[in-house]
Amino acid sequence: MAGIVTISCGQLWRNANPSSNIICFVTMPSSLERIPTTVSAQQAKDLNNPAVYVEALVRAAMEPDLEKLAAWLAGDQPLADHPFAMWYRHFAEKLRDMAPRIENGFQSKPPRSIPAPQIGRNDLCPCGSGKKFKQCHIDQAEQVAWKLGPPTPAIRASAVATLIHNMPPQELEKVPLNKASELALTEMAAVWHQHERLDNALVALKTALDGPRDDPHLLFDYWIARYAEWLVEADRAKEAEEFLLDEYDDRHAIEPWQAAQKLAAFYIDQGDPDNGETWVDTAIEGAPDNPFNHYLKGLLHHTLDQYEQATASYEKAQSLSHHFREQEQQYMEQLLADALDRARNQRSLDDDEEEPAAEADETAPPVSN
Ligand SMILES: [Zn+2]
Repeated sequence: MAGIVTISCGQLWRNANPSSNIICFVTMPSSLERIPTTVSAQQAKDLNNPAVYVEALVRAAMEPDLEKLAAWLAGDQPLADHPFAMWYRHFAEKLRDMAPRIENGFQSKPPRSIPAPQIGRNDLCPCGSGKKFKQCHIDQAEQVAWKLGPPTPAIRASAVATLIHNMPPQELEKVPLNKASELALTEMAAVWHQHERLDNALVALKTALDGPRDDPHLLFDYWIARYAEWLVEADRAKEAEEFLLDEYDDRHAIEPWQAAQKLAAFYIDQGDPDNGETWVDTAIEGAPDNPFNHYLKGLLHHTLDQYEQATASYEKAQSLSHHFREQEQQYMEQLLADALDRARNQRSLDDDEEEPAAEADETAPPVSN
């Protein structure tokens, strides 16, 4: 039943839907507003478009050559004969100042103000034609009329996440964890886990969880579940248990029943129905309308071959799943349909005639935000 702790993790996207408690079934919730990253090739890159701005910051972080960055801004045109080369160089420099710095845990440099190049209407046109600017390229100056203010938090977060997902592991290793934000740390942890570098993933995630947990975009409920699950994966179940018990005693950023729910899932997964029952009852007491709590109760009975009680709990969960948003509801119903089918036919959970839905969390389609 690998994955059971994570799929019990409650809210997926707190900001989008603050009142609901839903299951998590994405491999890697990025916890960010995803900005579409398709950038159309055009004459000059439009930095007023958030997606382009994200890409520009990522490039600025990874491209040491300022001239290449400026040429990309100019629409991959050679800068030498470009009338607005000085503007592209100017914006390239500004971008590099604002880009997340890998060696600095993705924080940017302290901002400095660099004055934008000015050309008067009556000055010579920078293209070298010898004409006055107003008689030459002035009409095309529009295309570089960017308002390049500091990136919004969403653009910044998206750039950091993109950077982390595109960095080679040997670069990712150089990031000083003590300087990285909670969001960067969780993204790094997810990437390390993807690379099957469990130890790195655990260290990065622990650093995030030991922090103030004050990033409103992060689902600490999810990451707590993930941490416990990775410890189990690393054959450190005892530590996972201690970690979850500590979370229950001294939780911050999650509700007591959420910690109880993870403990219940953990003990059921570990084949300890007595502790499983204690915690599942605590979770149900704290959140009686959460379908996942009843699903766990069903699983608990199921592992004990108590098919009738299992069926009753699954049916209870089914009757409550309308609390979830549509996609989560579909997923919950799929989980329940499989569990119910087994319980009604008195088949155990280990009976692998078909792939149990409870193990599908790694392959389930991600929630679209
Ligand atoms: Zn000109």
